[in-house]
Amino acid sequence: MMQTDLIIIGAGPGGYRAAEYAAKQGLKVVIAEEGEVGGTCLNVGCIPTKAYVHSATFAEARERMTTVIPQLRAGVEGVLSHPNITLLRGRASFVDAHTCSVCGDTVTAKNTLIATGSETKWLPIKGIDDPRVVDSTGLLKLETQPKKLCIIGAGVIGMEFACIFNRFGSEVTVIEYLKECLPALDSDIAKRLRKQLEKKGITFKMKTAVENVADLDADVILMATGRKPRIQADFAKAGFEYDERKGIAVDENFETTVKGIYAIGDINGRQMLAHAAEMQAIHAVNHILGKTDAIRFDIMPAAIFTAPEAACVGPTEDQLKEQGVQYECHKAFWRANGKALAMNETEGMLKLFSATDGRLLGCHAYGAHAADIVQEVSVLMCRDTTISQLRDMVHIHPTLGEILFAAVAD
Ligand SMILES: Cc1cc2nc3c(=O)[nH]c(=O)nc-3n(C[C@H](O)[C@H](O)[C@H](O)COP(=O)(O)OP(=O)(O)OC[C@H]3O[C@@H](n4cnc5c(N)ncnc54)[C@H](O)[C@@H]3O)c2cc1C
Repeated sequence: MMQTDLIIIGAGPGGYRAAEYAAKQGLKVVIAEEGEVGGTCLNVGCIPTKAYVHSATFAEARERMTTVIPQLRAGVEGVLSHPNITLLRGRASFVDAHTCSVCGDTVTAKNTLIATGSETKWLPIKGIDDPRVVDSTGLLKLETQPKKLCIIGAGVIGMEFACIFNRFGSEVTVIEYLKECLPALDSDIAKRLRKQLEKKGITFKMKTAVENVADLDADVILMATGRKPRIQADFAKAGFEYDERKGIAVDENFETTVKGIYAIGDINGRQMLAHAAEMQAIHAVNHILGKTDAIRFDIMPAAIFTAPEAACVGPTEDQLKEQGVQYECHKAFWRANGKALAMNETEGMLKLFSATDGRLLGCHAYGAHAADIVQEVSVLMCRDTTISQLRDMVHIHPTLGEILFAAVAD
């Protein structure tokens, strides 16, 4: 029996960041990983898709993946080689609330942190076992480029792959049940982005439900209808509350209903983003250590790496209206920005929302490097910045950052 301070299950961005931080703070950590370190993000998520986004051809993208992923994986293995960390390669399962078993080893600890991530949510559509149907992981494994790609779902994963394969020259059709793509994005911004992608040749069939996969004219069909927390049967032995669909129930410190067991990242179903998993990891470890921090989980920026990019932080205009919030909307356009014109990236629009007292409430945008601009708003929101304070902040010329400045100019 091995005794440690903290057991971590899963070495994705949530798990490995928790291990790194806890070890630096002096805790003895045992981390179990049944697959490759780096989790979904590094192996089949954020990193490979962005390697595809930044490659000109399908062949180049595949080549880039074979260099970028092992390089980053070696970096994570380096982080996990800290003397306070023991990496166990294998599947961890709960024996009881404070004991786990990993490939024959039994490990016990006062605190356990679950970071087992998420998996593809497959819809029960007729014909779903058709060999042409893949999820995002399957699509990244393809060795030949599909001539015709049909994507079911216009969420983040579906839209990013639509842009990638459109640029590679595949004929791309996106089928979406809802009226608009990217439901987390302001509907005005989402519509403009979709129209722009239509001009690039992507076909969108909105308000359409796929009834039978056999009816789809495509070589490959991507199932991109969302992800669900990766719940395992042995969780029941630990005694905390969880739901197959929503994930593990946690409080504001990411502690489950059993004291000393934490659940961070995609498994708690709160914000399925790599940077959210990392920040939740820090907060949970701080709670274990009895330390306070001021991480603002209510301000969670997100980006969609379409072409052009889209990004958001805070509520959409529709949500502000539904919540009865009094707000002002400040707009600016890429076509009026010197750097955007010089880059020949004139398509894009930004909407910045402020409260009646001037405090920034959120920002939604699409256009080249929109994520970097929204990132600035996110940082300003963490400091409760107002519109008039933003007006006093100098922005470098010529930069895309001036688009934000233009939105609030007198
Ligand atoms: C195609 C795609 C693109 C994405 N792009 C982005 C993006 O651009 N930006 C962004 O912020 N997010 C993106 N995401 C989401 C991001 O990947 C996840 O939010 C993030 O990986 C969650 O981290 P995690 O640590 O919670 O879980 P994961 O990264 O899923 O890691 C969980 C790990 O736990 C391991 N594990 C599970 N059960 C056990 C067990 N019992 N024992 C041992 N090990 C176990 C798994 O093997 C895995 O390695 C993308 C996701 C996908 C699918």
